[in-house]
Amino acid sequence: MTAPAPRPGILDIAPYVGGESKAHGHAEPVRLASNEGALGPSPLAIAAYERNAASLHRYPDGSVGELRAAIGRRYGLDPARIVCGAGSDELIALLTRAYAGPGDEVLYSQYGFLMYAIAAKTAGATPVTAPEAGLRADVDAILGRVTDRTRIVFLANPNNPTGSYLPHAEMRRLHAGLPGHVVLAVDAAYAEYVVRNDYEPGIALVDGAQNVVMLRTFSKIHALAALRLGWAYCSPGIADVLNRVRGPFNVNAPSQAAGVAAVEDSAHMARARAQVEHCRPWFREGLLSLGLDVPDSVANFLLVRFPRQAGKDADAAHAYLTDRGILVRKMVAYGLPDALRISIGLDHEMRLVLDAVAAFMGKSPPARAPG
Ligand SMILES: *Cc1c(COP(=O)(O)O)cnc(C)c1O
Repeated sequence: MTAPAPRPGILDIAPYVGGESKAHGHAEPVRLASNEGALGPSPLAIAAYERNAASLHRYPDGSVGELRAAIGRRYGLDPARIVCGAGSDELIALLTRAYAGPGDEVLYSQYGFLMYAIAAKTAGATPVTAPEAGLRADVDAILGRVTDRTRIVFLANPNNPTGSYLPHAEMRRLHAGLPGHVVLAVDAAYAEYVVRNDYEPGIALVDGAQNVVMLRTFSKIHALAALRLGWAYCSPGIADVLNRVRGPFNVNAPSQAAGVAAVEDSAHMARARAQVEHCRPWFREGLLSLGLDVPDSVANFLLVRFPRQAGKDADAAHAYLTDRGILVRKMVAYGLPDALRISIGLDHEMRLVLDAVAAFMGKSPPARAPG
């Protein structure tokens, strides 16, 4: 018997496993495993989504015109250079398929987002990683791994799962060191959370070159992960390519409607940002006071490193938290088996986590209260 075989490389792909959403015995677990927006979406986005239920028999606007215009107004960008996708995941896949194939290399940094490797292998290209120093992307290491075969460099800025970022000057240096035929894809999924004046999400780089694309998502700050909505701001050439390879109706109509309302609700975005700004520092301080190693983060999550000691390690902590209905992300797939990634949720959720981690460590809960 012969069975159909996929193209070479496909069976080497380790399927992406998302954050857990269920904890046995807990009807409503505390969900901090996928960096979803803690406040939920804008009520205006939910209303727009519901209004769209009346026209589900109609195809969506294949040009995604209103949403691109709304994004353009919000960020001061030319809508003609914006391409929307079913999550930025789809845009990562389309970009890779369009620019890289068998024999080509897709380069990213050691603790980069898992989707880059999956997209590369799906396209038949070879994923190549550049080592990081201190859990931060290293521009020289990335440039040192560029070869004649490199087609795309993916860099998440800020990066998931480390929470670190590269300042604009470093991004400019990375771009300046790349040959013009290499696409630099700046994945700025967490851009809205960054409050640092040396940070730039990628817009300036796109504006100054033909080989840069910035990827953004509605899954994090806009808390619309269920709708699968992302966008790319591109050079005209890259926008043209993405529009050729995407499906004609790749973004569904309720998502487009909700996206317009979300991007126009700047007050809700500000609240979402403020929650993280307020919560992350005291939560991190609490973890540090328990003796854990917690690298600083500019995004809506923290990487928490546990001692490599049986019963006290990240695995044991994960099991302990899950038993108590608290879902956080294991980092084995990222090559960080001693770490857990914990999204920033609501104040009372983070207080619960802190108390549970303290109990796990056999220590009394940190005295500091939120607020
Ligand atoms: C969450 C995330 C995304 C967003 O993916 P969507 O497909 O838009 O939900 C993209 N890149 C990184 C680094 C992320 O963490």
